[in-house]
Formats: sequence, C-alpha cells, structure tokens
Amino acid sequence: MNISEQTIGIDPVSHHLNDETLLDYACGALPVAMETLVACHLTVCPHCRERNQLADNVNGQMLADQKPATIKLSAAELLSQARSKPAISVSKKTNAVGDKSVPRPLGRLLPGPIESLEWRAVAPGIKQFALNNQPRQAGAFKLLRLEPGITLSQHTHNERELTYVVRGSYRDEIGHFKAGDIADLDGHVEHKPIVGDEEVCIALIATDAPVKYTTMLGKIMQPFVGI
Ligand SMILES: [Zn+2]
Repeated sequence: MNISEQTIGIDPVSHHLNDETLLDYACGALPVAMETLVACHLTVCPHCRERNQLADNVNGQMLADQKPATIKLSAAELLSQARSKPAISVSKKTNAVGDKSVPRPLGRLLPGPIESLEWRAVAPGIKQFALNNQPRQAGAFKLLRLEPGITLSQHTHNERELTYVVRGSYRDEIGHFKAGDIADLDGHVEHKPIVGDEEVCIALIATDAPVKYTTMLGKIMQPFVGI
C-alpha cells in the first residue's frame, strides 16, 4: 500500500509506516518484535503518531460497532473514515524528534549502550545483535551494525519486514533512509541496500519470515547472516 501522506521539508522523518501496519498495531495484531519497531518510530514521528491516534479510533469504533461489514473495508478506507471525523487531540510530546539517541522502546531491550553490545560478526562489514532466540524460520528481530559504504545482498521478502534506522543511513531502490525513518516492506519489494559512507549504520529489523536472497552470494551468506 502506498503511504497516504508524506510530510516533506518540515518533518525530519521521511519514510513512514503503512496504514495496514498502523491498524495492526492498534489492534494488537503485530508480533512483539514489530510492535517495538513501530513504537520506536512513533517516538520520533509526529506524523505517524497522529495517524496512530486515528487507527486507535478506528479500532475502537470497530469494537464498539461489532459490524462485520466494517471490517471488510480496506485499511485506507478505514483511515479515510477516521480522518473525516472531528479532530482528535494528539500528544505534543516531541522530545525525541531529530534526536539520534536510541528510542526508549529499543533501549529498554538492550543490556547497555550500543557501543558496548556484544556484536557478532556475520559477514564482512556486518555485525548483528539478536534480540530474541527464535529459530530463523520464525523471523528475525535484531540490530544490525553496518560499516559505512557496504552493499547488502539483493533480497526480497516472504512477508512483512520492518527496518528502523537508529543511526546512520542507507539507500536502496525505494529511497534514502536515515535515522528515525522506517522501511515498511512487504513481499513484493526486492532491494539492495547500500549503507551511507558518512558513518556506521545501526538498523533494527523485524521480519515475519526469513528474507529471500536473489543472488547466489546472498543465498550462500544467509545461514551466516541469519536473516
Ligand atoms: Zn512516520
């Protein structure tokens, strides 16, 4: 689904959550790992916080109405309905906007500062810190530490993949993702991220299922990278 609204110029965050992801979040239907990424993005993105309020409102209405027909509406239609209703008060807490420090929903899961984590090297220029012990088939929830300028193997996704940029940046076929941005991808996207050469990139990722590498090198590396 296309992002329904973009805030350009004023908002330092330029890549946002999909409507479906926000509605799943509001309904409590996201896996815990993905909830964490959504929460991280919400700490820095007033735009998505406002949309999240709308999604909460939609969810509340659905529960109140208990009309099965309502549930058949698409996520975009539901959010459109909510937008036509009176304005909802939105929290103005924007203390983390533009702040590249670790968002609290992530920080609470880490045993210490990012610099002191026990990173595991998984490929040249790539280290990871796993945030759960689930088998790889169940999907990933981990921090990646990517050296400046490296290129990741081209891959696509079986299901949903969320990537939240904690520090640094990367660029792919979709755009330029920097600290605070979230990439909300589904199984139709094939991409080859290139890390910005200005600094190390720290990215938090959560997937529903293992990614599908589309090159032989990627397929060879996957068991080591573990995503
Ligand atoms: Zn956003």
